[in-house]
Amino acid sequence: MPELPEVEIRRRYLVAHALHRPILRTEIADPTLLNGASARSFRKALAGHALVDTFRHGKWLFVQAESLRWIALHLGMTGNLRVIETAATMPRYVRLRLRFRDGGSLVFTDPRKFGEAHLVENVTAFLQARKWGPDPTLDGFDRDAFRERLRGRSGVLKGILLNQQVIAGIGNLYADEMLFQCGLHPDTRASGLKPRTFGALYDAMMEIFEASIAVETRYKELPNRFLLRHRNYDGLCPKCRRPLNITTAGSRTTYYCPTHQRRRG
Ligand SMILES: [Zn+2]
Repeated sequence: MPELPEVEIRRRYLVAHALHRPILRTEIADPTLLNGASARSFRKALAGHALVDTFRHGKWLFVQAESLRWIALHLGMTGNLRVIETAATMPRYVRLRLRFRDGGSLVFTDPRKFGEAHLVENVTAFLQARKWGPDPTLDGFDRDAFRERLRGRSGVLKGILLNQQVIAGIGNLYADEMLFQCGLHPDTRASGLKPRTFGALYDAMMEIFEASIAVETRYKELPNRFLLRHRNYDGLCPKCRRPLNITTAGSRTTYYCPTHQRRRG
């Protein structure tokens, strides 16, 4: 499932390949993608306009058209964006296609159909209406802000990290990585953590986001010390080479090292 780094890579891809190409027409192959919004107004907001700007907040990707309207895209579990130059290379599972006047197309593919597209006038209002938490990579967010968002919350740390209304962008894989890097058991409760542990979690989050974006989320190219490289059924802990445990925390499948991630409290 795409998390913050995956969506950021898609955003950079759009900047490189999809901007400033006037749109001839929009084909909505699967209207359920629009969540009840009018397909006609969607097409009208894009017809004749090029895409000119992008923005990302957590796992939401926003693309602005010259009409000043934004498309808000959520990739769900399997959503992807591709620019194709000829129809001969059209991928399967296309839910939305923006045909450019120059013959190319931007397509949104999504086999599992959990993705969403919305037509948005005001990005800030859109995020506020969903009570979305801050994006940790945007300006102004730091270690102190991270601690303020998390401290005093009840429940296991992993569930809190996955809650998009606390912090936007962390998903299952990156939450596991943060806990691993900090030696925290997945069942650790947030309420008893020391300030320096919040600081360590923040540092681990920023480090893995940066490292993952640097390799365009190809986990096999990450340095060996990251759990993400070893997070599979026969995976071994990169620190002690012992088998990783698989459990459920925060209602999600969780990988951890029973030696390096001890229960506290
Ligand atoms: Zn270990």
